[in-house]
Amino acid sequence: MKKRILLLAGGQSGEHEVSLMSARSVLAALPRDQFDVTPVAISKQGRWLPPTDTRQALENGVAATGGDLVLHRVASAEGYDAVFPLLHGPMGEDGTVQGLLTLAGIPFVGSGVLGSAVSMDKVMTKQVLASAGIPQVAWRLAVRREWSTDQDGVRARAAELGFPLFVKPANLGSSVGISKVHGPEELDAALDLAFSLDRRVILEAMTASRPRELEVGVLGNDAPIASPVGELRFASEFYDYETKYTEGRAEVHIPAPIPEDVARRVRELALTAFRALDCAGLARVDFFYLEESGELVLNEVNTMPGFTQTSMYPKLFEAAGLGYSELVTRLVELALEER
Ligand code: ATP
Ligand code: MG
Ligand code: MG
Ligand code: MG
Repeated sequence: MKKRILLLAGGQSGEHEVSLMSARSVLAALPRDQFDVTPVAISKQGRWLPPTDTRQALENGVAATGGDLVLHRVASAEGYDAVFPLLHGPMGEDGTVQGLLTLAGIPFVGSGVLGSAVSMDKVMTKQVLASAGIPQVAWRLAVRREWSTDQDGVRARAAELGFPLFVKPANLGSSVGISKVHGPEELDAALDLAFSLDRRVILEAMTASRPRELEVGVLGNDAPIASPVGELRFASEFYDYETKYTEGRAEVHIPAPIPEDVARRVRELALTAFRALDCAGLARVDFFYLEESGELVLNEVNTMPGFTQTSMYPKLFEAAGLGYSELVTRLVELALEER
């Protein structure tokens, strides 16, 4: 019997459009002899769209409005064998949708509530990974209320890290709201921006010199495997939104031209992180590599990474001999696996 799959895409975060692009690829790739796939687009306002509007949204690449309240629609998820929540960022990748599906008793692709929520929040991720002994940059947390009541306190916390530093909303992706702050004069604007997007903001020290950026894919549940390591190269100052999504701005190298022992360490650290965070199904783990010192630091873990045919995660597994269709099929199998 064919498995019935509900594919969720779009959603309320700043990565709405990226998600719809990924969903188009996954929809085309799930083998029709094994799966009966129903896509449901989620509007930017968080409402679930009916089939015709969903088709329109997939074509247009955006669903601004329309649809029904989630709680009116979730009953329609019943009867599916599994859900593929191909959603990035808050209200999708952060455990909220995972909680809804868990309550509804429907298996789904990717991490559960715990792994999704902890991995989405860069501060919680750093705390958990520090206790697992994983090397990371120095960081500080600030919450919105502090930025409105004690600005000097927050500025002093940033100064402890030294400049340049990075200011990031704790729960976002695609570099939305991230600033590289070169000196104290740029700090306030960066904090205003980050706090306009999140109640929690992370301040991160920069690595000693400009790092090389490595990414690795992890696939599996309680016995995960790591892909070959990939490297991103670009001319911009950091891997910002424009560099990520403008054709031709970034080069992908798979396998990354790095020493064998560095690649081995990246893969080991990624698997350790995946287990420490209780991830499941898939994750893309991002690293900084300092060539001169050989130092490797883990930057972050993405539990629902970009998933178009040309995205890093599928390309990493393709290099390992697992094609795009086989990969998405495997992810659904993992969702249905007894754990
Ligand atoms: P993704 O789209 O991968 O989910 P994100 O929005 O979660 O990205 P990060 O990966 O944390 O953001 O940071 C985006 C980019 O900013 C990095 O790829 C890197 O180029 C730069 N960057 C972030 N933090 C640091 C740091 N501490 N030191 C140096 N560069 C950094
Ligand atoms: Mg991220
Ligand atoms: Mg992300
Ligand atoms: Mg990243």
